[in-house]
Amino acid sequence: MPRPILATIHAPALRHNLARMQAAAGDAKVWATVKADAYGHGIERVVDAFRAADGFALLDLSEAERLRALDWRGPILLLEGCFEQRDLEHCSRLGLWHVVHCEEQIDMLATHKTQVPHRIFLKMNSGMNRLGFKPERYRAAWTRLNALPQVEEISLLTHFSDADGDKGIAAQVAAFEAVTADLPGERTLSNSAAILRHSPALAQRSDWVRPGIALYGSAPDFAQHSAASWGLQPGMTLASRIIGVQQLQPGDTVGYGSTFTAEQAMRIGVVSCGYADGYPRHCPTGTPVLVDGQRTRLLGRVSMDMVTVDLTPLPQAGMGSHVTLWGLAANGQCLSIDEVAAAAGTLGYELMCALAPRVPVQVQAED
Ligand SMILES: *Cc1c(COP(=O)(O)O)cnc(C)c1O
Repeated sequence: MPRPILATIHAPALRHNLARMQAAAGDAKVWATVKADAYGHGIERVVDAFRAADGFALLDLSEAERLRALDWRGPILLLEGCFEQRDLEHCSRLGLWHVVHCEEQIDMLATHKTQVPHRIFLKMNSGMNRLGFKPERYRAAWTRLNALPQVEEISLLTHFSDADGDKGIAAQVAAFEAVTADLPGERTLSNSAAILRHSPALAQRSDWVRPGIALYGSAPDFAQHSAASWGLQPGMTLASRIIGVQQLQPGDTVGYGSTFTAEQAMRIGVVSCGYADGYPRHCPTGTPVLVDGQRTRLLGRVSMDMVTVDLTPLPQAGMGSHVTLWGLAANGQCLSIDEVAAAAGTLGYELMCALAPRVPVQVQAED
């Protein structure tokens, strides 16, 4: 018998989250962002739930090929554009739209032989200082692209560094506006956090939005807001079972490094899930976990294949009890991936992307 661990992708929840983001985005068209294999969910497993999107945004050509093989004929945007000249041939062949963020990518386009002119999203570095042309270089890049026969249409793109936090988006929007106000073309600015927190301010400037994390049911601005408070439903559950039970006496310790010491008699359960499954090793004692749909806490260190949990408050729980590491329990209780991530000092993004290949995955059917 295989280990009892299982991840479930909740297709109905993904569909719901897309509708929620479409509603929040007003009139803007929506890219479903599916980079990193759909944030760890698997492109093949999410594509049907997201078919109501206007397009898919991702980074890897191989993922774009998989979408075309799944019969997605609509727009696909390469968020980082081409990495080398040959990539442009694949863009032509697969009909991909692509970001241009640097002069080298314009050089590649200028020498690219194609029958089909390309749709370009010209990226401005409006303050994040990762990819893109600085505002003062942006118009020159636009003019250069606009003169190329290889280019059919130029759209305008930037990305926010602080849509989820106190700094906000005002300075980046101002930098973008100052340079692009009189340029033609569609605009795309917002990630999940900007859509949820700043849509009214951006309504006039958004032809397309690019939600990622919210589609998968994680709050981009946890702990200020929970996913539930944004009306989002968990897209992934990681579940397992209790495969061992120990009775502890005061002074007994648990796990590697003996980091937890029992102060009184207690009962603990050993769960078949560890860091080699993608459960973060940094989760400390006290990290929430559901056993038979009831909240209890992690004890001691996370090991490669197991974690230990406190069963003292759950006398009915024992061998074979169902454990929810994040997501939904059978009784409807939810443990948000954001809460577990926060306990480990990270984000829901990292946990979902890190689901390990050895974990079997099932897709919950659409209702
Ligand atoms: C990943 C990404 C997004 C989606 O961001 P979320 O925070 O997951 O909504 C949007 N735009 C770009 C350029 C990205 O790289």
